[in-house]
Amino acid sequence: MADKFVVVIGGVISGVGKGIATSSIGKILKEFGYNITAVKIDPYINYDAGTLRPTEHGEVWVTYDGGEVDQDLGNYERFLGMHLPRKNNITTGQVYDKIIKNERQGKYLGETVQFIPHIPNEIIHRIKVASQGYDICLIEIGGTVGDYENIPFLFAMKSLEKQFSKDNVLYVLVTYMPIPSNIGEMKTKPTQQAIKQLNEHGIFPDIILCRGEKPLDTVRRKKIEIYANIASQYVISAPDEKVLYAIPLNFEKENLGKKVLQKLKLTPKKKPDFSKWKKLVNVIKSPDKSVEIAMVGKYVNIGEFSLKDSYISVNQSLEHAGAHLDTGVNINWIEAEELEDYDKVNEMLSRYDGIVVPGGFGSKGVEGKINAIRYARENKIPYLGLCYGLQLAVVEYARNVLGMKGANTTEIDKNTPFPVIDILESQKRLMAKSNYGNTMRLGSYCAYLDKTSYIFKYYKLLNRVKTIEEVHDYYRKDENAEKRIGIVKPEESSTLVLERHRHRYEVNPDYIEKFEKSGLTIAGYHRMKDGVKLVEFIEIEGHPYFVATQAHPEFESSLENPSPMFYGFIDSAKKIK
Ligand code: GLN
Repeated sequence: MADKFVVVIGGVISGVGKGIATSSIGKILKEFGYNITAVKIDPYINYDAGTLRPTEHGEVWVTYDGGEVDQDLGNYERFLGMHLPRKNNITTGQVYDKIIKNERQGKYLGETVQFIPHIPNEIIHRIKVASQGYDICLIEIGGTVGDYENIPFLFAMKSLEKQFSKDNVLYVLVTYMPIPSNIGEMKTKPTQQAIKQLNEHGIFPDIILCRGEKPLDTVRRKKIEIYANIASQYVISAPDEKVLYAIPLNFEKENLGKKVLQKLKLTPKKKPDFSKWKKLVNVIKSPDKSVEIAMVGKYVNIGEFSLKDSYISVNQSLEHAGAHLDTGVNINWIEAEELEDYDKVNEMLSRYDGIVVPGGFGSKGVEGKINAIRYARENKIPYLGLCYGLQLAVVEYARNVLGMKGANTTEIDKNTPFPVIDILESQKRLMAKSNYGNTMRLGSYCAYLDKTSYIFKYYKLLNRVKTIEEVHDYYRKDENAEKRIGIVKPEESSTLVLERHRHRYEVNPDYIEKFEKSGLTIAGYHRMKDGVKLVEFIEIEGHPYFVATQAHPEFESSLENPSPMFYGFIDSAKKIK
């Protein structure tokens, strides 16, 4: 169990930036020499995020050990440059499920199983397990104070404090200060109410981060100081910031790191060095040159608003790559359905330096995505295909280069004459006997790359080729490795790479030879237990950069360690420009 805990709670509204605040505090503490981990608590009853709608809830993040979890774990990984396991996302569903199972197994014999103490105890138990081996554990509580669903978790935090003493538990309230346009003045009332609601749970915030369109002024700071009964130096201004990675730097302008350490009775273990981080942030803020990228996806409007959150990791990975290549990346969101008429595609896509087709499910917009891929292939525009973006590139190639009319993925057309993307026989058997949820390829899988491929060059350049020991280590720390579909420990190879997966369909092995003979090369594959080779990477010969992967490399990209596939893509887009 960790020695110290930093609990981050949101006030006033959701979407106030708790995840980024938590990640930023983590980054700062890491710079002070501490070994950090972070846990996200989600008060919903879903067991995990796998069944949530990304267009409503934002992207589903996939952990290396195959968890489908809240996207905040993605923020933590991108800021902290570390891998977090699925157990770092706790949901109400998991807590109740465990307690009911325990009760049925007779683990509480004779006891009345009740909300208190059983629920908070199980929450604390999970936090202890997840924080094992770290100095400081950040705990972000999802939702907003005042939500009914939050109550068990706030109660658990109070118990944590009782068990480990107040010196070891720090509360940070991330609140919002609206500026109503008719008054033009920043208002503190909603924050006062959030503080009051927290107090009702016995929680008195140690630090208050005040989010808002503008910085906090002295008058407002004073008001909060009096209301929350804390010294004004612990009321921190957190105005809107376009570049997320600038936020830890902004916090450090108010010495947040030292304040947190002092409250936790800790001293710096080392002098923070943000120089590399600052350099990357500066490139993102004011790049010398920029590339225009078309991201062809599905964008659902919620009322009058359209959410771009469903591709957050892809957006971030493009930004990371740009930062390392001194290049700004302007992402243009193109609704795939609008590309269904190929005659219009030229007009809509001709101004872009690169095209991305990200992951997806179902038939909506698929023909538009296929048209975008054809356009990139024929016009030699750099193309990056991620998961569905690989599968549809294979469909496009089959139809338009190999003349397989009606070729498709069986996800869309069960009766296609050319099922170039299909469910493998072994998976069909699994699907027949187990439930649907167990049939996805989830989490990290290693692949053997072709030494002559473009992408191998970039994996090598960015130090991402793994040794056999590293791969074995990876699988060893993954408690679920044995349970996941098709995982097999690799043989010695000098081209091993690891990427995370989340999909059900695969390139149909029956067609591979045909593809390879015609210029669509298999640049990397995974080998299953039964010896079947799964296509992991494809490239097109003679194209400046047409690469696609069955994996989701966006889950292995952080600001300081960009993904080779994205790096290669931006590098090529930059050269084309
Ligand atoms: N729908 C495809 C599959 O299930 C691709 C999934 C994805 O892009 N994540 O295989």
